[in-house]
Amino acid sequence: MSSANDRRYQDALKAMESLEQAGFATRLAGGCVRDRLLGKLPYDYDLATVARPEEVMAHFRAKKLSTVPTGADHGTITLVTPSGPIEITTLRKDVATDGRRAEVAFGSSFAEDAARRDFTINALFEDSQGRIDDYVGGQDDLKRGVLRFVGDPTTRMREDYLRILRLFRFWSTLGFRPDAATLAAVADAKDGLKVISQERVTQEWTKMAAGKCLAEALQAMISGGVFATILPEVSPCTMPATAELLKWQGTTLPAVGVLAGLCLSDGIHDAKRLQKLAERMRMSRSDARTLAHFAQARDALIAAKFKETADKLEFVDSCEQVAGQGSLSKLFAPVLGTFAECRQMLSEIQGAEMQFGHRRHAVMPINGKDLAKASGLLQGPELGRQLLRLKRAFYNGDWQTKEEGLHWIKSTF
Ligand code: ATP
Ligand code: MG
Repeated sequence: MSSANDRRYQDALKAMESLEQAGFATRLAGGCVRDRLLGKLPYDYDLATVARPEEVMAHFRAKKLSTVPTGADHGTITLVTPSGPIEITTLRKDVATDGRRAEVAFGSSFAEDAARRDFTINALFEDSQGRIDDYVGGQDDLKRGVLRFVGDPTTRMREDYLRILRLFRFWSTLGFRPDAATLAAVADAKDGLKVISQERVTQEWTKMAAGKCLAEALQAMISGGVFATILPEVSPCTMPATAELLKWQGTTLPAVGVLAGLCLSDGIHDAKRLQKLAERMRMSRSDARTLAHFAQARDALIAAKFKETADKLEFVDSCEQVAGQGSLSKLFAPVLGTFAECRQMLSEIQGAEMQFGHRRHAVMPINGKDLAKASGLLQGPELGRQLLRLKRAFYNGDWQTKEEGLHWIKSTF
């Protein structure tokens, strides 16, 4: 494991030992224990403790360490450590639930805390010696690659319907599967997802889209009717072929790319509709622009008006303006390449980028001032137009040095 991760683990360990020495039983809990047992780098480290939030804060204050009461009402204090934040949560037990959020009371039992977690593989605890506390058979399920609710699936989904999406998220990211009875219970409970806030739904969708078993999890989501509940705009019948989905899965293709691919497959090509979908899903403004750009890029590829090298390089520029450097090869091309009508043009553009992409990154040796001086044009739209012409010619390789550029512009005025 990397030293960066080691440092984060070491800081979590120190915090755990410090609370333990003060008499507060404390364990690593949930996702980080699961990931450590799988030999994966945990995304973050969470601690579960018998100490109450105010005791956690007082304890670390006395050691001159800062804490932030990030979720004090449900028992979470964030400890600021040199390697990053660590969430320390007081043991809890559920008192009441309404399908959206649980009302919790603080407890002092790790077993009760395990019972309110979603899946057995997420309900493990680890002490400072690396010993595992497993009250629900999570280690066994980890070995077998099984996704199993802690307790009765229907009851657990009714408490918090988001758990339905978490199931497909872990299916996609870990490749773990639920059994048939659980899947049947999921299909029955799916309508409950409608009460879940869009932010939480989108957060799970985003994690799911990056999974190495996306295709299989998506197909299961479709068969169970869950897909239609969270993405009613897209018809599951028009899903890309499994072979295409397999190309997207496990890539760093952001969730917006997967969504774009699903929409384009379903014939949703209109930038405005995509923008609306992004808004409904409460995606960031930048993701919304990226999603809409897929439609514009597709239109451009189909119109195939890319005669000169400059047209092709400008296409790459337009992608990068919306979604950052490298976004043609990492995001737009893998998705748009799914569609036969885009493929030919796309490969020509990528060819041009390979051969002449350095021109896009070069600093043009003529700026607005140089051009104004040489041409006598004043600042304004005409100067802007001439600069654009100059840049296109630069992209086409018509000139390279300042002298050549000024000569080119004069001769084509
Ligand atoms: P990630 O790798 O995304 O951080 P994670 O399993 O750590 O995955 P988190 O959302 O960080 O997921 O939650 C931390 C832990 O809290 C989970 O492992 C699980 O034990 C518990 N948990 C989170 N969300 C729920 C939920 N909706 N219902 C029950 N338990 C939950
Ligand atoms: Mg986590």
